[in-house]
Amino acid sequence: MTRIVRLADKRVRIEDDSFTVVAEAGAELPAAGDIIVPTADWLGRADEVKARTGRTGVWIGPAEDPGALAGHLDGAALIAIQFPKFNDGRGYSIASLLRRRYGWTGELRAIGDVLRDQLYYMARAGFDVFAVREDRDAEVAATGLGDFSFAYQDSSDDRAPVLRNRAAAVREAKIVRAERALTAIAAKHPDAAFATSLSAEDMVVTDFIARLKLPIHIFTLDTGRLHEETLGMIAETKTRYGIDIEVMHPVAEAVEAHVAAHGAHAFYESLALRKECCGIRKVEPLNRELGGRSAWLTGQRREQGATRVHLPEEEHDEVRNMTKYNPLADWSWDDVLAYAARFDVPLNPLHARGYPSIGCEPCTRAVRAGEDPRAGRWWWEQSDSKECGLHESAATSLESATA
Ligand code: SF4
Repeated sequence: MTRIVRLADKRVRIEDDSFTVVAEAGAELPAAGDIIVPTADWLGRADEVKARTGRTGVWIGPAEDPGALAGHLDGAALIAIQFPKFNDGRGYSIASLLRRRYGWTGELRAIGDVLRDQLYYMARAGFDVFAVREDRDAEVAATGLGDFSFAYQDSSDDRAPVLRNRAAAVREAKIVRAERALTAIAAKHPDAAFATSLSAEDMVVTDFIARLKLPIHIFTLDTGRLHEETLGMIAETKTRYGIDIEVMHPVAEAVEAHVAAHGAHAFYESLALRKECCGIRKVEPLNRELGGRSAWLTGQRREQGATRVHLPEEEHDEVRNMTKYNPLADWSWDDVLAYAARFDVPLNPLHARGYPSIGCEPCTRAVRAGEDPRAGRWWWEQSDSKECGLHESAATSLESATA
């Protein structure tokens, strides 16, 4: 068993783990050796636990109150937080509480269904040690913390890195190229507008615009059906960058007429009704915002789906007769996360809860490990109906504006 330790300078160390997790409260404890016991044992039979030889940590489950441990942590070698499923986000909140409210400064370890894609978010929540699921390669998982870090085996006499920044040079080049492209777009199109869905990709584009102080207008589409977390990113952007994102709304009468005729959840009934809803809540406000402009930008990436593998960085939007730019077209999800880590970009918390792609609340669900990142979008529809729509210029535009 290995664990990944994140050092204060953002380097990473991979080392063998000496601790054994005692899974059940009340179980017989080994007389010696490093163990991590349930909260019930730590609090309920403290004398027995502390009489053993070896270090002892305490683990807490996602439904437990971390406040119960407050004032009872003397002698604890670490606190571990159990993630029963990778998309169970409760552990992030517990970590934040332990760090920020209860002042725990010792080791905070993630255990359970811990996978590579969570590590970045876990680190932001306060975790510094990650016991990655046994069937996963720790070195590969460590890259989830960003390629600006490197890892080495603690037991090695020579601490030469074994996990180099093999993608870092390419990544750096992508950043420089995107900076140049965005600067050129702003110079060529003083009326350019960026449609942000407030997803991770679009927050990266926003960061570029803010860092480079580019005069590119930023707007978003509030369909009236977005998650609170997504809407919260508008204020986050204001706080982080001082940027006011323009919020476009659908025409209220059109929404009311659609709901009166078909109900509030008509999108589940047929593709036609779903597209009608999207047309009213997204496409019309998007077109209204873009009308009269010469160019717009999206955060689309080729990696997001088979239908986007040929996504150009610059294209002609035939529907709106304007130029459309996709400056992150060749970026990977890892590139996005690494950039966000490096430049401290605020991210929609839904990403950490299994939502790689985020749209309207009733039309988006979390995905499981290994699923297509877009499997959670309009999940009840046939994938070919979704994908065929994505190939069309209008629908592609619609998609980009809603992650
Ligand atoms: S994603 Fe769903 S709720 Fe949002 S506009 Fe489209 S159909 Fe309507």
